[in-house]
Amino acid sequence: MEGQIEKRAVVIGGSLGGLFAGNLLHDLGWQVDIYERVPDDLASRGAGIGTHSQLLSVLAGLGIALEERLGAESGDRVCLDRQGNEVHRTAWAHIMSGWANVYRPLKDRFPAARYHFGKGFIRFENGDGRVVACFDDGSQAHADLLIGADGLRSAVRSQLYPGLEPEYAGYVAWRALVDEHTLPAELRRRLGNVYWFGLPPGEMIVAYPVPARDGAPGHRDWNIVWYRPIVGDEAFRDMCTDAQGRQHGPGIPPPLVRPEVVAAVKRDAHALLAPLIAELLERSQPFFQAIFDVESPRLAVGRVCLLGDAAFVARPHVGMGVTKAALDALCLYRSLQMGPESIDAALARYDRLRGEFGRRCVARARRLGAYIEARARPGRGWSAEQRDQRPERLMREVAASLSEIPELALEI
Ligand SMILES: Cc1cc2nc3c(=O)[nH]c(=O)nc-3n(C[C@H](O)[C@H](O)[C@H](O)COP(=O)(O)OP(=O)(O)OC[C@H]3O[C@@H](n4cnc5c(N)ncnc54)[C@H](O)[C@@H]3O)c2cc1C
Repeated sequence: MEGQIEKRAVVIGGSLGGLFAGNLLHDLGWQVDIYERVPDDLASRGAGIGTHSQLLSVLAGLGIALEERLGAESGDRVCLDRQGNEVHRTAWAHIMSGWANVYRPLKDRFPAARYHFGKGFIRFENGDGRVVACFDDGSQAHADLLIGADGLRSAVRSQLYPGLEPEYAGYVAWRALVDEHTLPAELRRRLGNVYWFGLPPGEMIVAYPVPARDGAPGHRDWNIVWYRPIVGDEAFRDMCTDAQGRQHGPGIPPPLVRPEVVAAVKRDAHALLAPLIAELLERSQPFFQAIFDVESPRLAVGRVCLLGDAAFVARPHVGMGVTKAALDALCLYRSLQMGPESIDAALARYDRLRGEFGRRCVARARRLGAYIEARARPGRGWSAEQRDQRPERLMREVAASLSEIPELALEI
């Protein structure tokens, strides 16, 4: 950087997308500050994630190796019917990880003094090759580039595109993580090392082992995700209403989900799922998240750009949210590296490449979830192809490797 003025970037959102961008731009010689609304460490966010080799490459490029602690290899994919019979099996070896396992090393690698907790971004001023970020405590940060990595309900996106709201897909994902050590030995033995599928009509459940949240080598959690159509807006509103009668829009915090709503999903599990999977769910504390699609028209406007879920949200069937955020950050890094003299040209490249990837990713995920949406919204004239729920198709396409998806083989 000798002879050059150090460039400054402000990153809004200190989750995985923000940390990938922050670390990469820091390595490029930029002065980077990350502002995160939540007041303390995010590592307790428990969720299992599927990985892609591209995600592992970005981590490796940052000097973060995937050890046993970070990933657990799942075995075959097996689909069970309601009686517990095997209806389809696919050979599969995939590294599954946990959200916190990726967050921790990224967070530890970023300069602590430049990561600011408890700073809620409110708005930006964008012009003349500079940008100013304004925060809820009245403070401001000036930079050459503002990166909106503030997730599904991005305030940066809202300012760029007023009125553009995440589009509810008509169904929810019930999620849970179960510490394997809390399960009876017999259940653990039957679960083995399999990536389980259950496909009741218009639904999908997957359950697979991920490294345990305690980080101890060899310890595992079972990650469960059950996609369920919700027929009618009233039923959805009711699910998002707490015991005090308060309605929480489309996103009720997990501890406020009413006990009878949780009890009903467990009851349904015994009626609709293989006994093995129902038993696992019975021993969990599930919560749900609504499923959304988000497509930003442009990823860069002036000196403001969007990244990760702030830019595009694809339904989780592609299993790609974290990898997409990492590749967005890598593309931004490469674009800035190729033309350090012109941030604007770099942002134009970023917008072109990642915009195309994001749109294709959202389209693929919509296609994979169409049969669930069709169950929730039956009157919309769904084609036989959209309603295709054959296990051999879904087990091949859900969370497939990026290298097996020709439409996503794009330059970064
Ligand atoms: C059911 C389900 C299953 C999934 N499974 C997978 C999977 O298997 N594999 C996978 O790769 N992905 C999966 N995902 C997606 C993945 O979780 C996201 O794509 C990923 O976390 C996106 O990261 P991000 O950093 O862009 O956004 P987020 O992780 O949402 O982070 C945004 C951050 O911005 C902060 N923030 C928000 N507003 C402000 C503000 N105004 N000021 C400051 N900070 C702010 C938030 O507190 C948060 O920390 C799944 C998602 C769901 C819903």
